[in-house]
Amino acid sequence: MSQTPEHREFQAEVRQLLDIVIHSLYTDKEIFVRELVSNAADSMEKLKHTQLTENQVHQPHLPLEIHLTTDEEARTLTIADHGIGLTRSELVENLGTIAHSGSKAFVEALKNSGKDANGTQLIGQFGVGFYSAFMVAHKVDVHTRSWQSEAEDLVWSSDGATGYDIAASENEARGARIVLHLNEADADFAKASRIKQILTKYSNFVAFPIHLNGERINTVEALWLKPKSEVTQEQYNEFYKFTAHTFEEPSYTLHFSAEGTRNIKALIFAPGENMELWGMGQMQPGVALYCKKVLIDPHPPKLLPEWMRFLRGVIDSEDIPLNISRESMQDSALVRSLGDTVAKRFLKFLDKEAADEPEKYAEFYGKFSRFIKEGVATDHEHREAVAKLLRFESSFTEPGKTTTFAEYVSRMKDGQKGIYYQIAQSRAAIESGPYLEAFKARGLEVIYLFEQIDDYVVNSLREFDGKELQAVNSDKLELPDAPEAEAEAEGEALDAEAAAALTTWLGEQLKDRVSNVRTGTRLVSSHAAALLPEDEPSPQMRQMMRALKQDTGLGHPKVILELNPRSALVKQLSAHKDSDAETATLIAEHLLDTTLLSAGLIEDPQTLVARSQKILETLAGKLG
Ligand code: ADP
Repeated sequence: MSQTPEHREFQAEVRQLLDIVIHSLYTDKEIFVRELVSNAADSMEKLKHTQLTENQVHQPHLPLEIHLTTDEEARTLTIADHGIGLTRSELVENLGTIAHSGSKAFVEALKNSGKDANGTQLIGQFGVGFYSAFMVAHKVDVHTRSWQSEAEDLVWSSDGATGYDIAASENEARGARIVLHLNEADADFAKASRIKQILTKYSNFVAFPIHLNGERINTVEALWLKPKSEVTQEQYNEFYKFTAHTFEEPSYTLHFSAEGTRNIKALIFAPGENMELWGMGQMQPGVALYCKKVLIDPHPPKLLPEWMRFLRGVIDSEDIPLNISRESMQDSALVRSLGDTVAKRFLKFLDKEAADEPEKYAEFYGKFSRFIKEGVATDHEHREAVAKLLRFESSFTEPGKTTTFAEYVSRMKDGQKGIYYQIAQSRAAIESGPYLEAFKARGLEVIYLFEQIDDYVVNSLREFDGKELQAVNSDKLELPDAPEAEAEAEGEALDAEAAAALTTWLGEQLKDRVSNVRTGTRLVSSHAAALLPEDEPSPQMRQMMRALKQDTGLGHPKVILELNPRSALVKQLSAHKDSDAETATLIAEHLLDTTLLSAGLIEDPQTLVARSQKILETLAGKLG
């Protein structure tokens, strides 16, 4: 075989990743062993599946084992498997570009963070896979033979700098044999004792026998099948890091077994970091499905509700037929009921953890609230249980502190009909706006929501514990009378006749922009507020439709303008609307605009600006 090797350059992202791996990552170097062992195991898992569907694989009798060999003199470490191996094009695709999700996420996050300096911190959240070999090796050779009958014997090699060579080889066994030529400083990894020490941490989680220099070192055991009392948190953490390809610890661990109609053993982890926040697309579901230790599907799509895709771990049930296909699995009532049992358990568990350790939960919630909100909006079956996990500020909490629906309900006043909420940019925006005062005056709590999707969340939830969720700007709110409110409000109210004349006049002036004008009892110190009729889309809904370009035909918002009959401004309008109709109209238009501004419903700020100019000119005319 005297063919010249084919030389290729790494993709730019790979070079960037390698640069960080080699130059900035000094701690936790040993994780490269875990990454390569786990690749070997994945490859053999894939071979098992291939054998089920293909009638021929190359060298079918090779044992599915992982062999590590150390050579102190040559300063090498070799990791060999008899998995699916790689063809020439797979070598280029898989080891020359970034295909795998962990490294991709890392490079994305790095781009978003802007500075290389963050690389070392960031990398701790991601598995870097195969490339981690270059943390300790100045040269890596991958000898390989694919399972496919026509494939070539090949050797890929690289110094991890700019590119790699692929050369023809001979007598390679099916699978991959990875030889690490270790750096002088990393010679330790050519010592059997050192490798053994690293392997003991997690080798028992690997579903294939692992040998080191010919000696078998793991007993294949499934951690999730052991009784809880026999597993330490340390072991759980190692298992999590191994299966999730990560350096970080899980934030929550739930291990349980259920017997009854279904026999279930489950080990579920909530991660420490939310990958979807690192500029990544949607995660794949990460709770694998097993039957008696045999992997059925590493990413079963419909096992758990979709919003739980951030969870990692294992569900094992004896009840699943081993030969179930991926397609029929998705529609299987059995699989659904397994998932449902685990989902319910997890929700209950999280609710309890949140109550027991609120600060820890707050930190988790800070990173994962998006999933929980998605759950409330989309998971009909578990909606109320998911809603219990929501946290928000309210008019009864200190700034930055949160409460729950359950706590809100326990504080509701006698006769209080609904759970009140307002969605706005910030606490300050709500507290300086016109809506809150009516609730304050009546001693009613208002929930503060700050995200656009909260509108979608509350509209999907509709009620909690049988109490309807009501927006503070809803026209149909019925608030109890409030003697305190009346006492607090200053001055006489307009009499009924004057009020009727004023609202009729205003209704006429503003007829294109309001559906009704009326006086009301909500307001204490504001002059007026815009209320939304039931069939009007909310401001958040309007923004969303605009963003999605679905807003043609939406038209202007048509609000109900509620006036405070005690407001001096309203009384002035009432007194002078006939004698100076022009100024009164200007004021009326502007009053409506400011209420729309508070409501988040101003669509064309330009007219508001133009009118302000006019008002300023009028005011300026009065100077001197
Ligand atoms: P990941 O394993 O997370 O996908 P890696 O960077 O570790 O990412 O590996 C990239 C790809 O290279 C893998 O997805 C796989 O296709 C291929 N690969 C790595 N190691 C092996 C191996 N031992 N046998 C076969 N293919 C492998």
